[in-house]
This record gives sequence, structure tokens and C-alpha cells, in this order.
Amino acid sequence: MVAHEFRTPLTSILGFANVMRKRTLADEERAQYLVIVEEQARRLAALIDDFLDVQRIEEGRLELKQELVDVGKLLREEARSFSVQAARHTLELDLPNEALSVYADPSRLLQVVGNLISNAIKYSPDGGEVKLVGTRNGDMVYVGVRDQGVGIPSELHDRIFTKFFRGDASARGISGTGLGLALARDIVEAHGGRMGFSSVRDRGSTFWVELPTADRAGGAQVRKER
Ligand code: ADP
Repeated sequence: MVAHEFRTPLTSILGFANVMRKRTLADEERAQYLVIVEEQARRLAALIDDFLDVQRIEEGRLELKQELVDVGKLLREEARSFSVQAARHTLELDLPNEALSVYADPSRLLQVVGNLISNAIKYSPDGGEVKLVGTRNGDMVYVGVRDQGVGIPSELHDRIFTKFFRGDASARGISGTGLGLALARDIVEAHGGRMGFSSVRDRGSTFWVELPTADRAGGAQVRKER
């Protein structure tokens, strides 16, 4: 299955490169082919990054920056960038006025949230609402991503964070590697957070993340420095 995930973009890159070499193409056609080649190469690069991340985490080599991040701002930016790609979905945001500050590696946090949003879109092929919720929950910042998609049958729930496990996604013809959630949970736990979900088949899913608020984490840091 993983080999197939690599093979698909590669076949497309090879195919289009071959056509471009053998045929004289109009400028417009040529530009269209190059867009496809670039997209598929990007897909391959993202796959390879996921594999390298898995290796890094398994070997305990994941290095995390510790920066003050406003999770609300990050969700707003992600919602904006995903709404361009998701024509059949409406992206709703539910955020408080106050900042939701955590200490985190911004690019890793973006990876986690981006993965949850792209899953929410990917696993609701008929469209619908994708709701992003950010709120403060005691000394944790809560992030929830809710979709109205295919959901996950309850008998598969306990394996959903297992690497390479894809539930019934392959049978539904939805592509992926089964690495995103396993990676996301490792990253969240490396930040001292937690991750979970609730889901009902054919009704939709909510994936959530909780991270320690910056004042809690910051307090611990200040104490350590003294
Ligand atoms: P991938 O999407 O590449 O298969 P993930 O690790 O992101 O890998 O997800 C693992 C599995 O969990 C998916 O194959 C799918 O079966 C299920 N899943 C993840 N997110 C959702 C969602 N929002 N709705 C329904 N199923 C989901």
C-alpha cells in the first residue's frame, strides 16, 4: 500500500516528462503539464518527509523549538489557506477574543493542525461544514476539528493512531499512508499535550488536541531557571 502511494505520483511525473520530451507542445499545454509534475513531485516530497519524521521520532531525534504561539492566530491562518482549496466545504471558526498562548514549535504545530484539517476535508468527500474550535480549558488550550464526513466505525477506533492503519479508507478509495495521525499524536505528546477523537460512522468525526497553556508551561520554566 505504501509502495502504491509512492508509485502513483512517480508514474504521473514519469508519464508527463516522457510526453513533454517526445511531443512538441503548445505553451499552454506545456505549462499545464508542468503544474501537474510540480504537484506530484510535492506530494512525493511530503511523503518522504513523513517517513523521515517517523524515523526521527522512533529514534528520539525529534527536535522541538519552544516559541510562544497564539493557537487562535494559527487556526485563523490555516482556515484561510484551506478555504481556498476546499470549494465544497465551509470552514467555520469558533475562537475566543483572548489569545490562546502555548509554547510550541510553530511549524510542528502547523503540521498537526494542517493534518487534522486536511483529513476533515478528505474524509468528507460530499462536502459539508468543517468547524475549527479553539478554547481555553483550565490550564490547557483545546483545539477541535469537526467534520460531517464518513466517520469511523467504532470497531476501528482503537487502531486509528497505529502507523499505516487506514481503517476503511482504502476500501472507500481515499488515498493516504496512515502516517499522519500517528505522527501528529507523537508531536502533540512531545509538547506535553494529548490527542483524541470521537467519531460516528456516516455522521462525522471530531479530532482534538490539548496543549498546556503558556502560563502553565512558562511557570514551570521560570521555576526551573531560578
Ligand atoms: P491517512 O489519511 O493517510 O490514511 P491518517 O493517519 O491521517 O492517515 O489517518 C488514519 C486513518 O484514520 C485514515 O486512513 C482514516 O481511516 C481515519 N481518519 C482520519 N481522519 C479521519 C476523519 N476526519 N474522518 C474519518 N476518518 C478519518
